[in-house]
Amino acid sequence: MAYVIDPPKCPALPVRGSGDLFPVHRIYCVGRNYAAHTIEMGYDPDKEPPFFFQKNPDNLLIGQDFPYPPASGNVHFEIELAVALKSGGAGISIGDSLSHIYGYAVALDMTRRDLQGEAKKAGRPWEVGKAFEHSAPCGALVPASEIGHPAAGTIWLDVDGTRRQEGDLDQMIWKIPELISTLSGLFTLAPGDLILTGTPAGVGPVTRGNRLHGGVEGVGELDVMVV
Ligand code: MN
Repeated sequence: MAYVIDPPKCPALPVRGSGDLFPVHRIYCVGRNYAAHTIEMGYDPDKEPPFFFQKNPDNLLIGQDFPYPPASGNVHFEIELAVALKSGGAGISIGDSLSHIYGYAVALDMTRRDLQGEAKKAGRPWEVGKAFEHSAPCGALVPASEIGHPAAGTIWLDVDGTRRQEGDLDQMIWKIPELISTLSGLFTLAPGDLILTGTPAGVGPVTRGNRLHGGVEGVGELDVMVV
């Protein structure tokens, strides 16, 4: 049997220091996972269980400039730690969660904040605000076999050389094992899944010409031009 159209390519992240690729299955994102960011968005960090949305795997932007997207005048940066799964399942316990992780990367959850805000107000889905083309710039994956499982360390973003976001991984409201366990109660996780673990405070708008330079201590850095 032949495909009637060419099958879509499988998006893949480079693995740092090798010629290898990590094929991406789904991209899950966590909302409001740092208290200071939750407060800046107008919510109470003590009252919310973790919640999730998705981006499309082909929204990944790897090693290229970020083209300012259409239909928005308020596109925001959100620097995040990405977790990549090498195995999955449903009903994963907190204690088993880390054993499913292949590695980590530095990512941006680019957001059309104006469209997201309209969606929130109208009780509509978030895809138009979150899951658009190139909305997930991501750096190379670093295997956990090399760096372990970072639970603390600075996460930061500079825009044109000025520090705009800074937090510490230990400020995550829901820790990585809790996120994996909770997600696996909602979805069957699979090898190739990415989880973006939320952003610290300081999110703000980008304009064409901005240089976004961020990093996570112990994981790596990410450099993206807005064009
Ligand atoms: Mn985010």
